[in-house]
Amino acid sequence: MHTMNGTLYIVATPIGNLEDITFRAVRVLKEADLIAAEDTRHTQKLLTHYGIKTPVTSYFEHNRAVKGDFLAWRLREGKDVALVSDAGTPGVSDPGYELIKGAIKDGIRVVPIPGPSAAITGLSISGLPTGIFAFEGFLPAKEKARNERLETLRGEERSLIFYESPQRLLSTLKDIHDIVGDRNIAVLRELTKIHEEVLRGRVSDILEELKDRTVKGEVVIVLEGNQGEGFKGSIGSELEKALKCGLSMKEAIEAVSKGFGISKGEVYKEGLKIKLMTAEGG
Ligand code: SAM
Repeated sequence: MHTMNGTLYIVATPIGNLEDITFRAVRVLKEADLIAAEDTRHTQKLLTHYGIKTPVTSYFEHNRAVKGDFLAWRLREGKDVALVSDAGTPGVSDPGYELIKGAIKDGIRVVPIPGPSAAITGLSISGLPTGIFAFEGFLPAKEKARNERLETLRGEERSLIFYESPQRLLSTLKDIHDIVGDRNIAVLRELTKIHEEVLRGRVSDILEELKDRTVKGEVVIVLEGNQGEGFKGSIGSELEKALKCGLSMKEAIEAVSKGFGISKGEVYKEGLKIKLMTAEGG
């Protein structure tokens, strides 16, 4: 029966500094019957720090199908489960979404225990417009797919937030520079930790700053949106550039019409010319 169900708590935990946790989060973690954690050893450090003795089980990318069923079963038998991830808010670019979706479908109460998220923490000190923004999570790891994604974002007016691995940071910044342009950007590394570092400037400034360094730790990128700079070339040349990046004709037309602030119909006409030329050439 529904009344027997337990509650699924989505508990935000620190993104570095162990003090960044709410009183309510500590209480809920103490009172839950079970904590589902992305990495049990990692979470254990936090639990030990706060004297939390609740049993912990793992819930990560590669066991989430089986573990999801197990947790659903516990919830249905009336146990309260607290979901935590390695850092920040569960479900934001980490496992959790499927569990939350399943719990909602099963009529289980899902309660948020808000707290830090690296995306919002980074945005808050980026110095870039915060009024409207878009969270992009991780860009695709493969260069071609990443460039395609960046091309579709070229005309985006909102500030863009990305997560990135330290190993890929430099190549991603280069791609941002070449595809999106030399915009204002903030690179926020190791937020709330001892080696916290904030780099602000144009993309080229940050590339210069980082060129001889080995970047370590965790990184958030906040990129300024398109400030009406428009596209530099002609409609045709921008369209060709977008197609070269691997976008389909439909995606390219959409990106270019956004970039120029003109109708898709207008761009489409140019698209037809290119198609005809390619057909004639081929
Ligand atoms: N759910 C988390 C949240 O709400 O922030 C994000 C999880 S995602 C798997 C991990 C990514 O978040 C890292 O690769 C990095 O891009 C970013 N991140 C996490 N902690 C960070 C920190 N202390 N400083 C900068 N970025 C961080």
